[in-house]
Amino acid sequence: MQTESVKSRATPSVAARVVGIIDGSFAMPRDDATAIPVIYPATEERVSTLIESSPEEVAAAVAAARRAFDEGAWPRMHVDQRKDVLYAIRDGLRQHAEELAYLECLNTGIAINHIRGHVERMARNFEFFAEVASTARGEAYTQASGYLTYVTREPKGVAALVAPWNAPLALASMRVATCISFGNTCVLKPSEYTPLSMLRMVEILHEAGLPPGVVNLVNGRGAVTGAALVSDPRIDMVGFTGGTTTGRQIMAAAGKNLKPCILELGGKSANIIDASADFERALDGALVGIFANNGQQCLAGSRILLQRSIAEQFIERFIERCRNLRLGDPMQPTTEIGPLAFEAHMQRVLSYVDVAREDGAKLLVGGRRSPDFERGYYVEPTAVLAPSNAARVCQEEIFGPFATFLTYDTIDEAIRIANDSPFGLVCYIWAEDLAPVMRVSREVRAGTVWVNTPMMRELRAPFGGFKQSGVGRDGATSSVEFFTELKTTTIPIDPVRLPRLGLPR
Ligand code: NAD
Repeated sequence: MQTESVKSRATPSVAARVVGIIDGSFAMPRDDATAIPVIYPATEERVSTLIESSPEEVAAAVAAARRAFDEGAWPRMHVDQRKDVLYAIRDGLRQHAEELAYLECLNTGIAINHIRGHVERMARNFEFFAEVASTARGEAYTQASGYLTYVTREPKGVAALVAPWNAPLALASMRVATCISFGNTCVLKPSEYTPLSMLRMVEILHEAGLPPGVVNLVNGRGAVTGAALVSDPRIDMVGFTGGTTTGRQIMAAAGKNLKPCILELGGKSANIIDASADFERALDGALVGIFANNGQQCLAGSRILLQRSIAEQFIERFIERCRNLRLGDPMQPTTEIGPLAFEAHMQRVLSYVDVAREDGAKLLVGGRRSPDFERGYYVEPTAVLAPSNAARVCQEEIFGPFATFLTYDTIDEAIRIANDSPFGLVCYIWAEDLAPVMRVSREVRAGTVWVNTPMMRELRAPFGGFKQSGVGRDGATSSVEFFTELKTTTIPIDPVRLPRLGLPR
């Protein structure tokens, strides 16, 4: 396999070919490598070509990460030095914020203003986890007299990190930052649909001074490159963000090697709107909750549960706002919803309009590929009123600009509906009265409850799902647990009396 140094290549704004980065060098693919078009979803144009990493390249990437961990400087570095590199990465990402936002927009179709927030969050991820790692503590025990026992935390090893397409910069940067801050090394595999910003991110990490081999990049389809990566026996842990079905496959593959996984999976989160809610704020929150990121987000408030007395007025106003939503060119700062990320996904989202009809749901607004665009995977903001929570549109994650309404009478009923789901990622509650807030906070089985606010992601606190929404948590304390190993060392204070075996009789 030929390589070319990352630092030697002038950075084009869009790489003509997306290749892997192994041990700090671009992997030069074989002539027979599979080429996958990279598409701009707003125009359906091919903007680059992904060259799929072969199993040989995946193995080389794992070997590089292994070497960087087993023999390299990164895990052994003084934490302040590692922090300096992580801060340089933060600064490098900020310097290239517009370029990264452009690449992300070009590949995902997410509205550029929204992405700008992701890029800043990405820079913060490196800053934050640098701090967490530098303040992680051990333990000491002196209760057993004559002994000192201390517990140290060590980096865990080499991680396979598999990322989704819906917000690559924000999500993959979180995993990479968490992983490497503690001195681990990794191989990152982005989604085959959205590799552009990831390639640039990994280049910037190297430009900022990250030693070669600490973060390696492979590209390709899940069943090929992803499967080869997560089943490599030299991997020590797996971090995955993506769909629940894939999560099962990944955990099974990791389980074969007895490797731990952190899985951030799908959701079908309830957004409960109590009659006591501030109506206008709840309306704004419901729209953001379902349409931000073009509706393609795990934490979307996709099941909107309305208390019956306000339901009719709420739906009427919601529909009116849907008709005004600015659907269009994701590169324009005024755009509120862009195209969906790729064609097959658009078809899947649209297929739920028929699913809803078959289940007896009423289409309230939207439901079509937008006729306003000749090209591009644009779906009208869509909402349906479901006959009951058993309808498929209430049970399955649609992952698009598709809201499902249900009505309820009492908060007990709302809680029952919220919990009647295979998922448990987040729950929203809008209420000015305290009682429904407290009941929802205590009784809904979800990893996060947002009260009168949409999507406030507190980096310090745990984030993750109950039930099929995931295994493990992101966040400060949880990341220490997952990305480090504990080692117990016991030392006697004075020489201990030892049984003396085998003395002459
Ligand atoms: P996906 O499961 O289709 O793919 C995710 C990644 O896994 C991709 O890189 C893909 O190539 C790879 N992959 C697929 N099969 C694989 C296999 N057998 N072995 C190894 N890798 C494999 O998910 P997606 O469609 O990219 O992302 C959308 C999903 O992600 C949604 O369900 C969404 O809810 C979820 N998500 C969850 C969170 C969270 O924090 N809980 C965040 C974002 C997205």
